[in-house]
Amino acid sequence: MSARTCDFVVVGAGSAGCVLANRLSENGRHSVLLLEAGPADRYLWIHIPIGYAKTMFHPVYNWGYYTDPDPNMNNRKIYWPRGRGLGGSSSINGLIYVRGQAEDYDAWAQAGNAGWAWKDVLPYFIKCEHNTRGASEYHGSGGPLWASDIGEEHELMEAIIRAANERGVPRNDDFNGAKQEGVGYYQLFTREGWRCSTSVAYLKPARGRPNLHVETGAHATGIIFEGSRAVGIRYLKDGQEHEVRAAREVVLSAGALQSPQLLQLSGVGDAERLKALGIAVTHHLPGVGENLQDHLQLRLMYKVKKPITTNDDLQSWWRQFKMGWKWITERRGPLAIGINQGGMFTRILPESASPDIQFHFASVSAEMAGAKPHPWSGCTFSVCQLRPHSRGTVFVKSRDPLAAPGMMPNYLSHETDRRCAVASIKYARHLASAPALADYISEEYRPGPATVGDEEILDWARNYGATIFHPSGTCKMGDDALAVVDSRLRVHGLAGLRVVDCSIMPTLVSGNTNAPVVMIAEKASDLILEDQAGR
Ligand SMILES: Cc1cc2nc3c(=O)[nH]c(=O)nc-3n(C[C@H](O)[C@H](O)[C@H](O)COP(=O)(O)OP(=O)(O)OC[C@H]3O[C@@H](n4cnc5c(N)ncnc54)[C@H](O)[C@@H]3O)c2cc1C
Repeated sequence: MSARTCDFVVVGAGSAGCVLANRLSENGRHSVLLLEAGPADRYLWIHIPIGYAKTMFHPVYNWGYYTDPDPNMNNRKIYWPRGRGLGGSSSINGLIYVRGQAEDYDAWAQAGNAGWAWKDVLPYFIKCEHNTRGASEYHGSGGPLWASDIGEEHELMEAIIRAANERGVPRNDDFNGAKQEGVGYYQLFTREGWRCSTSVAYLKPARGRPNLHVETGAHATGIIFEGSRAVGIRYLKDGQEHEVRAAREVVLSAGALQSPQLLQLSGVGDAERLKALGIAVTHHLPGVGENLQDHLQLRLMYKVKKPITTNDDLQSWWRQFKMGWKWITERRGPLAIGINQGGMFTRILPESASPDIQFHFASVSAEMAGAKPHPWSGCTFSVCQLRPHSRGTVFVKSRDPLAAPGMMPNYLSHETDRRCAVASIKYARHLASAPALADYISEEYRPGPATVGDEEILDWARNYGATIFHPSGTCKMGDDALAVVDSRLRVHGLAGLRVVDCSIMPTLVSGNTNAPVVMIAEKASDLILEDQAGR
């Protein structure tokens, strides 16, 4: 295969791109070029789960974006990390395995997206999975993506589970099983103590195939069109411009921020806004970059009475040594966990028929997620609304393909989301004050006891709220005015071009987004190969 022409060009080797590279090259009949702007994933801290803290602000493996000042968040610019390099965000994420709720996917199908109901997507969740608990009605065994139990109890997490039980929330040992509601430990994307990114799970086993070519350090700058057909990609590598032709299709998997950016740079988007930037319009598609949704995390932090937190482990060389030794000998302990151990899904808005908030519990506390832990015993209750109504935008600010696009999340711009934010902070406090936690929690560090009253609580949310890293929806699937792709993920009005990543979600799923993106890419691979067979 020549790197200058191939059957499929996939842009972005993240959660979705690595799956596509594997599946599209699997039958040996098609040549595939995977272009990735970042480097290979050779950094050790990508692969050891606690390295989450090392990659959170890494200048090479992280795009390190900031949003535009968000007027709904007291004009704060909010840090938006995104993975850069093989594995994309699956190489730097918090490893938490959650699929969302069956109702999320049924709602996609009810909105006109045939083939995306829960019954249709469950087989793909099962196909991709190797669950160390074994196969069942809900789980797969033998798939590339490992999901493992944390494998040990933590005294503080056990107390939190008892506290939740006292508040009426039942224990749930499988958030991806029959029901999501409940409290318990998360399963993680780890394989015998190591991170299982999509690069490890999907790309590594396929790298030896002669029909798969992977180029790192290759930053796609534009889609090449002939009329309304996408026929290739322009990219920069080592300061040189290159072109590659796609005999069959171009697939954008650059994520919810950069897939719409690439479309806009290539003249696909709102015609008036593109013209204002001097970008020649290829196709007027006003939904590109619209419909941005994200989970806003509100991090309540507590000082803990006993020195049992990861903050304490990191204070002493002896305890650090013990942590390291435990990982080396057993592949367990804090090094085998990204950051959060436990979770909870429950309902707080009266109108919600299914869980509407998610908790991430961590036996560590820091000023920002992934930042240096506090020098005292601490823990974090991070809570987010699962199905936000606020909608934002991603739009390029210039024709420069290397510049970050404009990102406006508009968090808390919808009244329901403000109501949910206040209710969830109050609920987190209600949980923290349960009898089971009396021997553990000494004081609330954030928001702090002075923050009382709905207005003050909401203002605290605006001042301290941050992303839980799930921006999605910016090239939404559907057939309405804002839809960018159809239910086979083909870009409306153009040929030879699909988007396959987090951006196609019409509505954000009720949980973390890595597993849903892997499912999307597994299903997309089948759709692409089916369409090729029918040509
Ligand atoms: C810090 C963090 C923590 C998270 N925690 C969790 C978690 O615990 N559990 C969970 O389920 N989800 C989590 N997520 C979310 C989840 O990882 C993402 O939603 C998912 O990885 C997105 O997949 P994607 O394929 O859409 O994009 P990505 O995985 O981000 O992939 C996009 C790829 O495209 C590349 N790219 C971009 N532009 C170009 C270009 N112009 N040319 C070439 N390549 C380009 C990027 O470098 C990247 O490799 C987290 C995300 C982050 C950032």
